[in-house]
Amino acid sequence: MTISLVTGGAGFVGSHLAERLLERGDEVYILDDLSTGAINNITHLKANPRFHYTVDSVMNERLLAELVDSSDNVYHLAAAVGVFLVVESPVYTIENTVRGTELVLKWANKKKKKVIITSTSEVYGKSTRFPFNEADDLVIGPSSMGRWSYASSKLLDEFLGLAYYREYHLPVTIARLFNTVGPRQTGRYGMVIPRFVGQALSNEPLTVFGTGQQSRCFTYVKDAVDALIGLMDNPATPGQIYNIGNPEEITIEKLAQTIIAKTGSRSTITYVPYSEAYQEGFEDMPRRVPDIEKIGAAIGYRPKFGLDEILDRVIEYQHHPDPARASV
Ligand code: UDP
Repeated sequence: MTISLVTGGAGFVGSHLAERLLERGDEVYILDDLSTGAINNITHLKANPRFHYTVDSVMNERLLAELVDSSDNVYHLAAAVGVFLVVESPVYTIENTVRGTELVLKWANKKKKKVIITSTSEVYGKSTRFPFNEADDLVIGPSSMGRWSYASSKLLDEFLGLAYYREYHLPVTIARLFNTVGPRQTGRYGMVIPRFVGQALSNEPLTVFGTGQQSRCFTYVKDAVDALIGLMDNPATPGQIYNIGNPEEITIEKLAQTIIAKTGSRSTITYVPYSEAYQEGFEDMPRRVPDIEKIGAAIGYRPKFGLDEILDRVIEYQHHPDPARASV
């Protein structure tokens, strides 16, 4: 039986990952300080004898060391998440992102445990080469603009992970997650789909930031966690970077219109300038499209869920927000 540690396992993606791992028979340890995760996301898993959780931070080095030692492999998901948090708490974001990864790698290296570091499509920054390929140059903005600290911290995590691979032969794989959505995701930290669905269901105006002509590609959380497990299981992935995404693209304005139509809401759309939504001088990415050929070739990944089905499931979840019923 495989023993997996999921840091950030009470979060949105982490809780779905833990659930899938349990379903296939793994023993699962999760470590989560509940900073952006929620105990409700995992309450229904507690009855499973193969599930163990500890509410604490990856900064608790002794505990982390013990948990890594008792596991065969580590999915490192614990990190600050969401543009609101990144803009409001930059020190916390940078320190936690970098230090957490440092500690996970340090302890995994003691007994060469396989690690997946989850990174983000943010690292492509302002690149205009579409779709984004893992080998592309990354175009990060100036350090005077706080939002780039998130991309830069995650990038440092990637460099560090790959350095452990090269220098110490630690099996480390980097996964760059593109906008991942689904039940249990909260809109509290800015994520657009849960926010729009919540606004539509309460007949409040949908807050489209900027002109709404920026676009995104949304990945269903089940596709994303299956991809993470596929990367972990495949012995050829260490030392490599993989995009995890779904290339189906939609503008944010069209997304707002679609959600209003699907929910039969009386909501209207309000356009909020970026300076009001985030902070003065905020730069949003106009487009972000994943190239998924590499992960397709490596593990046969192909996204199974389109935006239409994703929205139906998120709407259903917000009608009945019970994490236990939100298995994907
Ligand atoms: N967005 C929006 N209204 C909201 C929240 C987000 O128009 O209430 C926009 C945001 O500016 C971005 C896109 O939706 O262009 C996706 O935002 P999110 O924070 O979900 O993810 P990001 O791609 O920025 O990491």
